[in-house]
Amino acid sequence: MAATVSPTAAMSAKLPAIDPVEEVLAAAARPERSNILIVDDRLDKRVVFRTILEELDQNIVTASSGEEALRWLLDNECAVILLDVNMPGMDGLETAELIRSRRKSAHTPIIFITAFADEMHTARGYSLGAVDYILSPVVPNVLRSKVKALVQLHQLNAELRRRADERVALVREQAARAMAEDSQRRASFLAEATQVMASSLDVDALLERTTALMTSAFADFAAMVLLNEDGSVRTESSASVAAWPAHIGGERAGFEQLLDNQRSLVVAHGEPLVCDRLAASDTPRGEIHVFPLVTRGRVRGTLALALGPSARHLAGADLGLAESIAGRAASALDNCLLYEEIQRADQRKNEFLATLSHELRNPLAPMRTALHMLKSGSFEPERGRALLETMDRQVAQMTRLVDDLLDISRITRGAIELRWEHLDACAEVRHALESCRASLEGGRHEVAVDLPREPLRLYADRVRLQQILENIILNAAKYTEPGGRIEISAAADGDDVVIRVRDNGIGIPPDKLGQVFELFVQVDASPERIRKGLGIGLALVRDLVRRHGGTAQAHSEGLGKGSTFTIRLPARGEGLSEDAAAVTQPDTPAQAHATGAKRVLIVDDNVDAAETLVMMLQLLGQTTRQAHDGKAALEAAAQFKPQIVVMDIGLPGLSGYDARRPRHA
Ligand code: ADP
Repeated sequence: MAATVSPTAAMSAKLPAIDPVEEVLAAAARPERSNILIVDDRLDKRVVFRTILEELDQNIVTASSGEEALRWLLDNECAVILLDVNMPGMDGLETAELIRSRRKSAHTPIIFITAFADEMHTARGYSLGAVDYILSPVVPNVLRSKVKALVQLHQLNAELRRRADERVALVREQAARAMAEDSQRRASFLAEATQVMASSLDVDALLERTTALMTSAFADFAAMVLLNEDGSVRTESSASVAAWPAHIGGERAGFEQLLDNQRSLVVAHGEPLVCDRLAASDTPRGEIHVFPLVTRGRVRGTLALALGPSARHLAGADLGLAESIAGRAASALDNCLLYEEIQRADQRKNEFLATLSHELRNPLAPMRTALHMLKSGSFEPERGRALLETMDRQVAQMTRLVDDLLDISRITRGAIELRWEHLDACAEVRHALESCRASLEGGRHEVAVDLPREPLRLYADRVRLQQILENIILNAAKYTEPGGRIEISAAADGDDVVIRVRDNGIGIPPDKLGQVFELFVQVDASPERIRKGLGIGLALVRDLVRRHGGTAQAHSEGLGKGSTFTIRLPARGEGLSEDAAAVTQPDTPAQAHATGAKRVLIVDDNVDAAETLVMMLQLLGQTTRQAHDGKAALEAAAQFKPQIVVMDIGLPGLSGYDARRPRHA
C-alpha cells in the first residue's frame, strides 16, 4: 500500500514520510490525538513551543514546573515530554529522574530543551533516558519533526497495542464460542441419550440402545452389563464402530480378559476406572473406561467404553459427559427393574387371587354336603359324628386362611401389636406340634423332636409364636411326601433361642431361597401344583419374627433335598430386664373350663354368629344375652349388667368402638 501522507499539508514536504508507520496509522480509522507535555517555567517559551507544535494537530499540555508536570502525569500519559533543563526549584533533570521512576511514565520519551550543550548535563540527561537534546532558541522545523516522529511512534505503539488487544479478544471470543458450542453439543447429546434411555422399560432394549448411542457419538466400543443379585451376569449388550474388529485384531481375547478384570474391580469398589491400554501388550493402542451403574446404593452393572481406531481420548468435559450418561443409564436401568418388580408383584397378586378363590371354595363343598345330610336326618349316628368332624376340619382350614389374610392386611398397615409374656420355648414347640398333629398324622410323617430337658426361657407373644411355629411345621408336612421325616429342635444359643424345623421333602431351588419369605411367593406356581397354599404363611413368619427382634432363614441343598427353616429369637425379647418373671405355660382346655358361670353379652349384627356363640356359651354353663346393633347393645348392657361383653367392631349405626366408650356404658 502506498504512503498516504496528505499532499496538501505544508509540513508534508518537510517531514520525512515513514512508510510502514504511516501505513499502520492510516489503516487505523482515525488515530486519537496524543498528548504532548511542555514543561517550562517561562510563559513566553511555553507559548512559542505551543505555537510551533500546534501544526501537528495534537493535544498540547503545558506545565510551569516539574511538580506540576509530575502531578499531571499521575493521571495522564503522553507521547513526548519537552522538558526545560533550567527551572527554579526542581530542575529538568530532577523532574526527568522522578518521571522515569514511575512505572506509568518510565518509557515516555523526553526531549530536553537547554540553552547550552553542557557535556555533563547531556551525559546525565541521556542516562536518565532522554531521547534528545534541543538547544534553545529552537529551530521550529527541527523541534516539530522530532516531536512528530515521537508522536507517530507513540500512536503506532498504541495502534499495535489496540490491534493486539483486538486479536486477543477475538481469540478469546472464538474460544468461548467453541466452548459454548461444545457444551451445547454435550447438553443436546445428554438430552438425546436420556430420551433414548427412557423410551423403553425393557432391560435388553435399554442395553442395546445405550451401547449403540455411545458408539455413534463417543466411543469406538461400548458394552453394558446388568448383574444378578448374586453378582453373575444377567444380560449384556455391546456395540462397536466398523473399524473396531480390524483394530483389535488378534488381541480380542486379551481385550475381553482385561475388560472383565476392570469390570470386577469397578463392581467391587463402585468407582469408575480407566486403563490406558486395550490388552496386556502395548498394541493395539487405545484406552478403556468402565463406569459403575449404581441404583439405590448398589452396583447393578457397568458401562464400559473403549477407544482405539479413532485415536481419541476420553478426558475433560467429555469424560464428565460419559459419567453423566452412566448415571442416567443407571436410573433408566432402575426404572426397568422397578417395572419388572411391579409386573411380578402384579402377576403374583393375580395368581394369589385365583388361588384364594379356590382355597375359599374348596372347604365349602364338603361342608354343604355334610349340612345337607345332617338336615335330612337319614343317617347312622356314627356317620353323623363323621360328618361333624368333616365340617370341623373344613371350618378350621377356612378359619386359618381368613386369619392369615387378616393378619397380612394388619401387617401391611403396621397394626399388629405384640403381647409380651415369659414363656418356655419347649412348651410352645410341643403345643404347636399338638395343634399340627392332624396334618402330621395325615401325612404319616415320622416326627423327631429334640428339646432340652430344662425350660427354655423366652420373652415373646405366645399367640404369634404359635402362628410362627405352626406355619413352619405345617409347611414341612405339606412339602414333604407322605412317610417323610420331620425334625424339630429348640436350643439356647448365647442370648438367643434357636428353633429349627428340618424336613426331607421336596426342597427349594437355590435361586428361590431368597424369595420364599416374600408375600404371595410360591416356588411351584404352576396351575397344576398339588400342594395348595396362598403364599402368605412365610411372609407372616418373617414379619412376626422381625417384630420379636429375631431372624427367619430358609436353607435347602436344592430340589428334592429337603429344607430347613431356622427361627432365631432373642431369649429376653426386646429390652427385657434381668429379673424375668415366672414363665407362664399355655392354657390347657381344662383350665379354660375351670372358670365359673358369668353374665356374657354377645353383640354381633350377624345373627347366626351371635346365635351359635350363645348356644356354645350356654352349653358351657354361662348366662348370655345378645344384641345385634350398638344401640340395642347399650340397652342390654344397662339392664343385664354383663361381666363379659363379646362385641363385633363393625356394627350398623353405632360402631363397636363407640358402643364401648364410658359415656355410653
Ligand atoms: P404357601 O401357602 O404357598 O405354602 P408360604 O408363604 O408358607 O406359602 O411358603 C411360600 C413357598 O415356600 C411355598 O409355596 C413353597 O414353595 C415354599 N416352601 C415353604 N416351606 C417349604 C418346605 N418346607 N419345603 C419346600 N418348600 C417350602
